[in-house]
Amino acid sequence: MKGLALLLLSTSTYLLGAPAHAGTPCKNPDPATFQSVTADGEAGCEAAKEFSRAIAEVRKFTPRPSPFELTIHHEEVLYQQEDRFSTYGAIEIKDPKLRINAGWMHEYGHSVCSKILEQNIPEYKRYAETQRRAETFARETVTQAKSITDPRKKLAYISSRSAKLKTFETDPKFKRTIEPYHELCADVVSVLHAQDASAMTKTLAKTVPSELHPRIRPELYDFSKPHPNTETDACYGDPHHVFAPVRSQLGSMGIARQETAADKTRFFNQFAITMVTQLRQQLKTPNCDSVNKNYLFMKAMNPVGETIDGSDEVQAAPAD
Ligand SMILES: [Zn+2]
Repeated sequence: MKGLALLLLSTSTYLLGAPAHAGTPCKNPDPATFQSVTADGEAGCEAAKEFSRAIAEVRKFTPRPSPFELTIHHEEVLYQQEDRFSTYGAIEIKDPKLRINAGWMHEYGHSVCSKILEQNIPEYKRYAETQRRAETFARETVTQAKSITDPRKKLAYISSRSAKLKTFETDPKFKRTIEPYHELCADVVSVLHAQDASAMTKTLAKTVPSELHPRIRPELYDFSKPHPNTETDACYGDPHHVFAPVRSQLGSMGIARQETAADKTRFFNQFAITMVTQLRQQLKTPNCDSVNKNYLFMKAMNPVGETIDGSDEVQAAPAD
């Protein structure tokens, strides 16, 4: 998941002369999952079909989000290789090999997690709506700017729209609190699907060149390795890295050993309930230092039959 600032940055790069990826519409393999599918060539459309089959597996243990727009690019430019989940209801995948991996499932995981947060955190609903409006504004900017031929006028237009885009920004504290949970939850979906605690690390190690992405640390996505609390900065660290110690906890609780759909459903529901409960506490009484106290996850998830405050109000069961 990328932030809006990055979205606009890539938008500007795109508008100022980077090659366009118009793609072609594919036959929609599953209208219940995708609003539309656009991909680069036949291989991209085949990849979308494969993605649709993998999503059908994930749906057996997660709630079903609303259908979203899917775009798959055959992207050779390494520094633009980050995939993107958008609260607008769109997923954009950039993959030179057009082969589905844990990163694709992570992006789909974001749409699942967004659905859970919308159902359980009233403030998140408002946050997502603001993000959607901002993303619509950014997309309109792209469309409008395409029709301006004079480079100086185009740049002036983008600058003025960029300034306006800032007025859509949501509470930065809320964003900073919510993002690490979103990233953790998307990883949980991906790893449960892969039944491999190192699935995200393996994918990132292959696709993120460290010299170009110095801030991304693939080893911190590994659920099979210990990550001490001191390794990440819970207050201002990269949202992808903040919950590395919790990943270790979930790894030792057997996240990769859940084989049947029923086992995965149980594990994912317990995770979602714990996530929502903790997030509600953090939003009510923000406490940066306690964000990553992983014993809370252990306490909530370990003993069978133990009740969690507010758990009965949390909706996390699959929609079908
Ligand atoms: Zn993400």
